[in-house]
Amino acid sequence: MSAFPTRPRRTAARLLAGIVAVGALTGPAASLAAAGELRTAVPTTAKRSARYAAAGWPTLKAGSKGTGVTALQYLLNSRGQSLTVDGAFGPTTTAKVKAFQKSQHLAADGIVGAGTWSKLVTTLRSGANGPAVKAAQTLLKARGQAVAVDGAFTAAVADRVKAFQKSAGLAADGVVGARTWAALLNGTPSGGNRAALAKQILAQKQIALATVHPGGKHAGSTARQNIIDTANGKGALTSPWGDKPNRRVALDPRMLNGLLKLRTQYGYRLSVSEIVGGDHSGNSRHYAGIAFDITHINGRHVGSGAPHKQLMAACKKLGAQEVLGPGDAGHSRHVHCGWSR
Ligand SMILES: [Zn+2]
Repeated sequence: MSAFPTRPRRTAARLLAGIVAVGALTGPAASLAAAGELRTAVPTTAKRSARYAAAGWPTLKAGSKGTGVTALQYLLNSRGQSLTVDGAFGPTTTAKVKAFQKSQHLAADGIVGAGTWSKLVTTLRSGANGPAVKAAQTLLKARGQAVAVDGAFTAAVADRVKAFQKSAGLAADGVVGARTWAALLNGTPSGGNRAALAKQILAQKQIALATVHPGGKHAGSTARQNIIDTANGKGALTSPWGDKPNRRVALDPRMLNGLLKLRTQYGYRLSVSEIVGGDHSGNSRHYAGIAFDITHINGRHVGSGAPHKQLMAACKKLGAQEVLGPGDAGHSRHVHCGWSR
């Protein structure tokens, strides 16, 4: 699921927020376009405007946590506020948001919605530097693109922006304009993304998905069946003998993207032993659809000469937060990559 705890539900309020988003964006988007920037970000037709509204912006407020808040704090710093970047929306962040809103003649309510986001974001392209670039890099990383958060918009960063734009159905120009910001902040672009990623994984012959379990028999919950079900728009099934038996779990697109990129970006040949199936501890990330286990890398078993350290580093670069392997308890024969809840 989304990294943003306050992601709005599909309600009348959300529809309204979408409409407000279009209104709020027309002003700054138009003025940036006049200055020769943000060309691709300006909705020029009713259809594009509608898509723009659908993209929306997340609402962040006191108590929010995660990469969206981290990006917000970097963006506030890029606008002259000075904040410690810690990903937690506390009283200091509220105060700085209010100060920024006041400076922009917005209602100073301390809640970051469409109007505030559209004033905070700035168009970024190759050569840009500073905290706003760090905000974009933080979000790219959270969306599974392998970038360092160093504040320098290099050609390599532009390539990762293009890859993200492609995955989100945006024009892949490598420039972070308002639409790309919204898509980055809003999490995964659409519900279809999960199924599309699963299909791409199935198409990779060098990603071997287990059709049996190491610890029991249940065809419906193997790694391969988990991905097939996801490709068909269903939840992935847990095993009957696990701590959370016989449940359907929506696989997280960040995890699916990470698995795919281990092959398509890093070139590994992989065997995946379990995703949501098998037996894990009760609070395991497997049961949340945000983890997978790898037993073989490039034809070698983990623990018997496979390059597990390199693979573990790649998982981290792809946004995984919980990465375990040989040397960690219970992981002498497999690598576990888990994403944040
Ligand atoms: Zn695991």
